[in-house]
Amino acid sequence: MSQLEEVQGLVLSIRKHRERDYLVKIFTDRYGKLMFFVRGTKNPNFKLRPAIQPFTSSTFIADIRDDGLSFLRDAKNVEPFSVIQQDIFKNAYATYVLQLADAALEDRVVDNRLFEQLIQGMSYINEGKDEEIVMNIFEVRFLRYFGVLPELRGCVFCGKTEGAFDYSSKHHGLLCPAHFHEDERRLHAFPRAIHFIRLFSVVSLEKINTVSVKQETKDEIRAVLDILYEELVGLKLKSKKFIDEMKNWQDLIK
Ligand SMILES: [Zn+2]
Repeated sequence: MSQLEEVQGLVLSIRKHRERDYLVKIFTDRYGKLMFFVRGTKNPNFKLRPAIQPFTSSTFIADIRDDGLSFLRDAKNVEPFSVIQQDIFKNAYATYVLQLADAALEDRVVDNRLFEQLIQGMSYINEGKDEEIVMNIFEVRFLRYFGVLPELRGCVFCGKTEGAFDYSSKHHGLLCPAHFHEDERRLHAFPRAIHFIRLFSVVSLEKINTVSVKQETKDEIRAVLDILYEELVGLKLKSKKFIDEMKNWQDLIK
């Protein structure tokens, strides 16, 4: 069975298939993440070309199949996040967020809330909001999607939610100072890094307007999230490696 549908979609990735065709992965509002086959892109008048570029959201007219590949027939309201497409730094962060989404989501699982958040996140990066913080918020959000739920709301022993905290791998969550002794090999992370990670686990993306974080603190947050991802998720994405390497040379060309 197939059906022609109008869906909102955000392009997650595109790759060449044989000479002239493409496989485009799109996160849609009503059908979740789907792989689309797009034919005939050598044609200079190929009208779908702008709509299937990375970092673009569109309304697609699509032939949605129950299994296997689906097909794109047309697109309208094509909205490229053009700053992301042109800025190597913003591109790096946005690519990682979308690759994380791709890794975290099963095909055909509808998640309209996440769909809206990803569009919002791309808009924020495109508008010049702090792309590292946008990335961090999604990294914390996606932990749940990877099926790992460290306790980030408060101390795993007493439930305390005020004050300074550290992270314990052994106990899979935060410790307050009164329970630091429960894990001598706790992270010894900077309390302000933990503070922001806790914040990111509860605030909505819109709150980013009120969050201002120094580079030093961002580096500390990065270090903690890297440990969480390494220990709990174990994902090695190329786009993340690129961001890590970028830190070594970005100041030279900025
Ligand atoms: Zn405690």
